[in-house]
Amino acid sequence: MIFKGEATVVKHTGSHYLLSRLPEWELFPAVLRGKIRLKGSSATNPVAVGDVVDFEAELPEGTDVAAGVTLENPAAITAVKPRKNYIIRKSTNLSRQSHIIASNLDRAFIIATIDYPEIKLPFLDRILVTCEVYNVPVTIVLNKVDLYRESHAEMLEAFHEIYEGAGYPVMEVSALTGEGIDALREACKGHLSLFSGVSGVGKSSLIKALDPSLDPRVGEISDVHLQGKHTTTFYEMYSLASGGFIVDTPGLRGFGLVDLKKEEIALYFPEMLKASENCRFTPCTHTHEPGCAVKEAVEAGEISYDRYSSYLGMLDEEGKYR
Ligand code: GDP
Ligand code: ZN
Repeated sequence: MIFKGEATVVKHTGSHYLLSRLPEWELFPAVLRGKIRLKGSSATNPVAVGDVVDFEAELPEGTDVAAGVTLENPAAITAVKPRKNYIIRKSTNLSRQSHIIASNLDRAFIIATIDYPEIKLPFLDRILVTCEVYNVPVTIVLNKVDLYRESHAEMLEAFHEIYEGAGYPVMEVSALTGEGIDALREACKGHLSLFSGVSGVGKSSLIKALDPSLDPRVGEISDVHLQGKHTTTFYEMYSLASGGFIVDTPGLRGFGLVDLKKEEIALYFPEMLKASENCRFTPCTHTHEPGCAVKEAVEAGEISYDRYSSYLGMLDEEGKYR
């Protein structure tokens, strides 16, 4: 019997994909049928984690998808549904190739720490711009608050002011003490979320705290029999026992690369975009123009000077990140 259905890509190994009919978490292997090409996409992977796909499977008599689809008898991916968003990693060489890390994300949780390691605001701002470009809503998760809540109380307060003022929710958590973990778990329920952060901020510890059965360092998907032998894992989705799905990305650097024209950058600073409605000139770079509402808002303390200076830094470096 030929079974036709819809499922989500949860993992891509060298040789095949693993699909699941979310929110069900029952993985089965699939391969691409024919050539699936996305118009205008230069991505090296036509199908990415998070994609919703149509599949067909030849099911032996009396079996369902979970039992009838095997590595020897994989499902066939016949089409990829349009993506609501996706984030890509550009290769650093000159080939101009890019790799889709994940698609259809409801939210990105950017894990950071005020200290241990010390936060670099311009770098965080660059990541936030990237998420805006990719149309992925962001929550900033400050981990390790047990270490700096008291010693860095003022910085912590200022951080909330800056980023909540810019429109980003900020959560305080500690993977070590468990503080804030329930709230984070709640925020993940029913959604597909990206987890990202520079190494050392405690991203792996947080994922483990959310669901002790997950160990991102091991790269676990427990159905060992579904994993082929010589597999290279790129990115994969995890199912949280408490509900929701996450994609863990090893580092932020890779997707900090977007092609933006000078006059576009400010569109991705939400608070500047809003203020710029009142700039005398359009387009306005918010640097030297008279009657610039963004500069006025910075001077009035309504837009954070740190954010504005990140913006200036990006204007300066524009072109270096292609
Ligand atoms: P990753 O590189 O972001 O995955 O970070 P890890 O999860 O490996 O954590 C880096 C280090 O920070 C480890 O030594 C963790 O034990 C420690 N760590 C993680 N979360 C916390 C936390 O909430 N509080 C404290 N004090 N240490 C933490
Ligand atoms: Zn302006």
